[in-house]
Amino acid sequence: MTTTPVLDLLARVLHDAAGLLVELQASRPKPEDLARLLGTSHLTATRLLRNAELFDADQLAAMRTARLSLDTIFTIGKYWRKLSNSQADREGLFADVIARAGADSLNELEEHLKEVVGALNRQCADKPRSDWARFSRTVDCDGKGYLNIKAPAEALARMNSLIDDEAKAMFHQGHACSIAEAKATIITRRVITYGEREASQSEGEGVNGEDNPLGFKYRPFVVICHPWLLEKRDGKYLTTDGTVVDLRGYADRMLEPFGWVTVPYRNFAGGVEFSEPIEVRRFADDAQRLVLTAAYPTCAHPDCRIAARYCQIHHIQAFAAGGPTEIPNMVPLCMRHNKENDDDPTKPCNGRIEKDPVTSRIGRRRWPDEPLRFTKAPPTRYGAFEQSRAFFDRVDEYSGVASPNSPPTIATVE
Ligand SMILES: [Zn+2]
Repeated sequence: MTTTPVLDLLARVLHDAAGLLVELQASRPKPEDLARLLGTSHLTATRLLRNAELFDADQLAAMRTARLSLDTIFTIGKYWRKLSNSQADREGLFADVIARAGADSLNELEEHLKEVVGALNRQCADKPRSDWARFSRTVDCDGKGYLNIKAPAEALARMNSLIDDEAKAMFHQGHACSIAEAKATIITRRVITYGEREASQSEGEGVNGEDNPLGFKYRPFVVICHPWLLEKRDGKYLTTDGTVVDLRGYADRMLEPFGWVTVPYRNFAGGVEFSEPIEVRRFADDAQRLVLTAAYPTCAHPDCRIAARYCQIHHIQAFAAGGPTEIPNMVPLCMRHNKENDDDPTKPCNGRIEKDPVTSRIGRRRWPDEPLRFTKAPPTRYGAFEQSRAFFDRVDEYSGVASPNSPPTIATVE
């Protein structure tokens, strides 16, 4: 290929990466200073410093003579760190790697290292090291932490296959942005739900004998104040396990599937009192989803043909506006149409899904003064709603009921 002055310069610098590491080994700058100097991320700076520490002076000199690039050194470093067999001939292996690095492509070198280091590590695998799970103590800027697990590969593969279908369904139904996100949600939810059930059983508590799987002590509970009472607050709350979270994230996480709220109010004397706990359920459960999917086979938007099983369950009267999570107030709506639906009828913008107060048919009203438009998607005719409507109309017809809106009369046989 033809080179240009800048390419030439870059190639020369990149192939003296070991020289850079020698200097870093001697000067030991702080990662943040190095990142600022090179205009790179903190991660890149840290990688440079880690590799400068990993190799000794002789190894760096050999890599410098072989004119290895930074990526090649990083790749060698990655496997060098993984090599856990203390009996391995490290010097011989290093010489072999340097020789190969000159001749092989980087991909070939990586495959070779993976194979060789894997084989060497398996030789000492008769003494398996213990499993572990580590929870990160620091929290990312988005309020999330990490869980890292070492466990037998078969157990992890089994775990992955057990949640795979569920994760894909969750992703296709729009409840997660990726399958990886869905898996994280499923694993977290499983562990927490299981733990809470165990705890509730040992507590042996229930509220009014209701069949709630969570013991009262372990149920999420939030206090919601009216906005005008929240002056000078930053919206952050402290949970009973010592984590500071923002109210919205807390409510979203904790109110699913069981949650309790209380509303503070001023009594006549001016003191603050709390309402009795109000149970809140925000998401449709599987049984409700099943009924709704059977009743309305596609997204309720008249111009959409997305099958209900890939849809979200939409509250016709918004949950935030007090709409209950009950079948008469819910309908399948695809992710896009759920997002653009005007939840607040006083601010018309994109149109709104509504239920006809007489026939109970669910349609969409583009503007407040326009009539409802109903889906004409072919599967709708076979859906439970239209089938039931047709059935009741026929019953009304046979029993001589004039209007489908008056209650059907039951014929008695003498
Ligand atoms: Zn749709």
